[in-house]
Amino acid sequence: MEMFLELPDATCTAARDGLRPFETRDMLFLAALLQRGGNTGYFVEIKGGTIIPETECVERADVKSRISRATVRQWFREGYYPFRRMFVNGKGHGLVIRYMGDELRSASRWKSKEPWALGKSLKWPFEKGRDPLLGNLHKIPLLEWEDSLPLSKGEVYCPLDGQVLPVKAEIITDPITWKQLCGRHWRVLLCPHCLGQIQVEMIRMN
Ligand SMILES: [Zn+2]
Repeated sequence: MEMFLELPDATCTAARDGLRPFETRDMLFLAALLQRGGNTGYFVEIKGGTIIPETECVERADVKSRISRATVRQWFREGYYPFRRMFVNGKGHGLVIRYMGDELRSASRWKSKEPWALGKSLKWPFEKGRDPLLGNLHKIPLLEWEDSLPLSKGEVYCPLDGQVLPVKAEIITDPITWKQLCGRHWRVLLCPHCLGQIQVEMIRMN
């Protein structure tokens, strides 16, 4: 999966991985779109993934679909927070999960109080089944950071938190799947503050 290290500029009207807005991994693009839309209630998709606030659309004839702001936000939430949502809901059945080298979950169960202990320690905390961040995403400004600086080595942009040094997590399928020759092992880079998924990459399979 591509990792986007640059912020989309004002002329960027399509996801930079060439995918449709609901499939894209370019979360900075979706965040910029939501920010650029201001209070616009609707966006329009023109063609080939080009999507703009409805207020900026001049040629109505080209419009393929009209999309509500809530839908775009939902794409952002689902695309950027799969890891966080799995943690909040205590899901992850059959997955081994490591976070910064610690095994938080074996294939059959979460270890001790994890992931709630991790949830408490974040800048954007969550607890079991309750997530003030994802529950209030419509109120949280995206790409509006106090100091916007160029990236230092290893840093990436989180749409919520600005420049961050991502942390590593790993997701590995159940040992049984490896015996059945369908095992998968992904490496995930996450924002250390909100657990937004910066990048996911499959590093091993059989
Ligand atoms: Zn973040």
